[in-house]
Amino acid sequence: MAELELSRVSKTYGAFNALRDVSLKIGDGEFAVFVGPSGCGKSTLLRLVAGLDPVSEGQIAIGGNDVTTRQAGQRPVAMVFQNYALYPHMSVYDNIAFPLQMERRSRQEIKQEVARAAQVVQLSTRLQDKPAKLSGGQRQRVAIARAIVRKPGIFLMDEPLSNLDAALRMEMRSELTQLHRRLGSTMVYVTHDQLEAMTMADRIVVLNGGKVEQVGAPMELYHNPANLFVAGFIGSPPMNFIAGVAGSIAGEAMLRVEAPGFGEVTVPYDGSAVRTGDKVTLGIRPEAVTLGDATDDSISFSIVPDIIERLGLHTIVHSESGGRPFTALFNGDPRLRPGEQIHVRVPRTQIYLFDQDGVGRSR
Ligand code: ATP
Repeated sequence: MAELELSRVSKTYGAFNALRDVSLKIGDGEFAVFVGPSGCGKSTLLRLVAGLDPVSEGQIAIGGNDVTTRQAGQRPVAMVFQNYALYPHMSVYDNIAFPLQMERRSRQEIKQEVARAAQVVQLSTRLQDKPAKLSGGQRQRVAIARAIVRKPGIFLMDEPLSNLDAALRMEMRSELTQLHRRLGSTMVYVTHDQLEAMTMADRIVVLNGGKVEQVGAPMELYHNPANLFVAGFIGSPPMNFIAGVAGSIAGEAMLRVEAPGFGEVTVPYDGSAVRTGDKVTLGIRPEAVTLGDATDDSISFSIVPDIIERLGLHTIVHSESGGRPFTALFNGDPRLRPGEQIHVRVPRTQIYLFDQDGVGRSR
């Protein structure tokens, strides 16, 4: 069992609260991703789990055992770092074997374990090379193999792909997903890249300013963001936000919102205590926008494309609407020209509502 449980964990550096009251449970075998902007505390959280830094408050349990006061070496975890941390003068074999040599395992056993790990990361033919002869992706695979031989209960990975170029990052993302499937181990992975989080995680933990904003499966966060922060962080291009003022309730679980530049927009909401006159925010994902006029179930408005990005599969249009930037994403390559106004529509059910505190109030 390598379940991870954090109970009311806080970390302060002097007067600065790097983490505030974090409670979380990561299941055995789960691939959890901590994601958030720079400085949100995600690396700090990983270091606390690894035992590289002590917690200021709270408890950490791994596999049901309280490890809060245990040294790093006494915890059933192995960490993979962004900069690989390989020994340049040692061969790939010796780099992978290093943790086992430290444990004074037999030569035969070391040979078997290194061969097995090298096979998992597909480096069996490179064991005699020095790290300098390997590509960035291969070096990262050596670092992962070195973690594998330790047979940790939990793999901890701190931005392991951020030194790689875009194409290699994409390749390594699917390799890590496959690795996780093969090993079935618990993995906790830190990244600032929401795309990595969305593509690899069973569950995403969104951190901001040292606090957990939301925990959920990638599609849960995408469809039901708890608040403005998560709504703006998950999804690419990011959600458009439109400031509005709450009007009256319109029928069952529908709310009228006056949004400058958009007129009166009637949107589904959860029936909570939004009052007439409250400042609210509407959210529209770029991919919810299609070309065309309004229907009973949708709102429509016009935009004037400023920058048009043609990606083949999609076209991303950056424009201004109601004096604010607005981004739309269309399938394929519709005939659009910068400066030429277009009519677009958005289904009402795909318009998000956030109350004056930024809390998601969609139905
Ligand atoms: P990044 O993606 O930039 O690495 P992060 O989310 O991983 O960001 P952390 O490294 O966890 O952020 O740092 C969280 C906050 O704690 C930051 O504001 C950082 O400056 C602060 N911090 C981290 N380590 C220390 C330290 N040893 N002493 C003082 N402040 C620290």
